Amino acid sequence: MEKKGLSMKKKRQTLAQGKIRKSGYRITSGRKAILEVLTELRGHLSAEDVYMKVHDYYPAIGLASVYRTLQMLVNVGIVFKFDFGDGRARYELVECPSGQDHHHHFICTSCGRIIDHSDFIEVELDFLKKVEDGLMKKYGFKITNHNIQFHGLCDHCADE
Ligand SMILES: [Zn+2]
Ligand SMILES: [Zn+2]
Ligand SMILES: [Zn+2]
Repeated sequence: MEKKGLSMKKKRQTLAQGKIRKSGYRITSGRKAILEVLTELRGHLSAEDVYMKVHDYYPAIGLASVYRTLQMLVNVGIVFKFDFGDGRARYELVECPSGQDHHHHFICTSCGRIIDHSDFIEVELDFLKKVEDGLMKKYGFKITNHNIQFHGLCDHCADE
C-alpha cells in the first residue's frame, strides 16, 4: 500500500534538513527542534519567540545557540531574516515563489505592522518575472527566489 503523503509540515522539515546536510552542517537535536518550531509557528518570529517555544521541546538549548542556528539557516537559504526597523530581527521560513505560502510584505513605518500579502496583482507578477528574466540574462545569476518588502503607511496610519 502506498504510504499517505507526508504532511506539508513534515515535507518542509525534510527538505530543510536535506539543505542543511548539503551545506555541510550536521542535524543536531537542537537544530531539529528549531526547525520544528519554525514550521509550526510560521509568521515573523524574533529569536526570543523561537527560543521560548523551542525550550518546550528542548530545554537544554540556550538563546545564543538559537541565534547561531537561525543565522546558519539564513546562510543556507532556509530562512529569511528581516529587519523591520524596530531593532529586532525577525525570521521566517523561506517559501519559493511557487509555494502556497509565498508572500510579499507591507511594512508600516509608523506603527510597525507587518502585513503579509499574497493576493498578488497581475502587473506585480508580470513585472517581477520580467525583472528576474532580465537580470538573469544580464548577470548570469540564477534567481531562485526573492524577498519583496514595501514600506509605507498602513490604512490606519494613513488615515490619521
Ligand atoms: Zn513573490
Ligand atoms: Zn500603521
Ligand atoms: Zn511574512
